[in-house]
Amino acid sequence: VKAAPFTYSAPRSLDEVVDTLVRYDDEAKLLAGGQSLVPVLAMRLSRFEHLVDLQHVPDLTGVSRSDGAVRIGAMTTHSAVGQAGEAAAVPLLSQAAPFIGHGAIRNRGTLGGSLAHADPAGEWPAVAVALDAELEAVGPDGPRMIPAAEFFLGTWTSSLEPAEVLVAAHFPVWEGACGFAVEEAARRHGDYAMAGVVCGVQLDGGRVTRAAVALLGVGSTPIRATAAEQALIGTSVADVDATAFATAVVSELDPPDDLHASGEQRRRMSCALAERAVRNAIAAANGEDQRA
Ligand SMILES: Cc1cc2nc3c(=O)[nH]c(=O)nc-3n(C[C@H](O)[C@H](O)[C@H](O)COP(=O)(O)OP(=O)(O)OC[C@H]3O[C@@H](n4cnc5c(N)ncnc54)[C@H](O)[C@@H]3O)c2cc1C
Repeated sequence: VKAAPFTYSAPRSLDEVVDTLVRYDDEAKLLAGGQSLVPVLAMRLSRFEHLVDLQHVPDLTGVSRSDGAVRIGAMTTHSAVGQAGEAAAVPLLSQAAPFIGHGAIRNRGTLGGSLAHADPAGEWPAVAVALDAELEAVGPDGPRMIPAAEFFLGTWTSSLEPAEVLVAAHFPVWEGACGFAVEEAARRHGDYAMAGVVCGVQLDGGRVTRAAVALLGVGSTPIRATAAEQALIGTSVADVDATAFATAVVSELDPPDDLHASGEQRRRMSCALAERAVRNAIAAANGEDQRA
């Protein structure tokens, strides 16, 4: 199937991008790596009068570290995020990247495209929500920072305004004895996960002092398991009951049925994945390398 006809521009500055979006109103769409947008256009699930290609806009790629966070330009590819030396300060980035599609998709698809696309089964949205990332956007009214918790509004819906561009994402760096894990269940390697869990723990004096858990693929947005996190914080590592933790993670989960799995299957998968994730995150924080 071929996309409906559209016009195309490739601006050389962010100002030009925003001006073009304003000029076309709702009829223009940004093109990043094209790994989600092009199939949508080709299958005529949506159509736009004009595509604005971001690939020649300067300063949208790259990874840097400052003020306790790793900043990643929106046009940085999934592969580059996973491999960047500066990104090592946020281990969930290199742990999550290999779960995204296949090599060809990771080499073209971008962090910003994935966040803006807001697929609830996407890895970057879940990592952003778990870590309380800040998303940097610019639009006709200038720049603004959007907390990840306020960014994902529903399936394929973000809080970006129609003429706003996502410029970068800022992921906080956790210091000290920290461990992280990403666990997923997918039908085939490279498929979107039917369910997934990203998890981080920080330990101090033999106790859990910080915990972050977000689920993907089980609702219309990434879901943060705040109550389970709070219950874990303060627990001595020796007393952590991973099964009880996982039960708490899924206690209020009500995933939808679809052709890949029933809601109940997704809930049970999430429970098993959360148990494995917290065990592996604690092991990593303790400097152990064996996986549950
Ligand atoms: C077979 C297949 C398997 C896949 N599996 C996975 C998977 O397992 N996990 C996963 O997370 N993803 C998966 N993807 C999607 C992939 O990660 C895409 O790269 C990603 O969703 C979109 O990034 P992109 O750069 O290709 O964006 P595009 O497709 O170019 O754009 C996607 C959307 O984001 C908007 N957009 C892009 N950049 C910006 C920006 N800077 N500011 C504002 N809006 C912007 C576009 O206008 C469009 O609406 C898969 C894709 C395919 C084809």
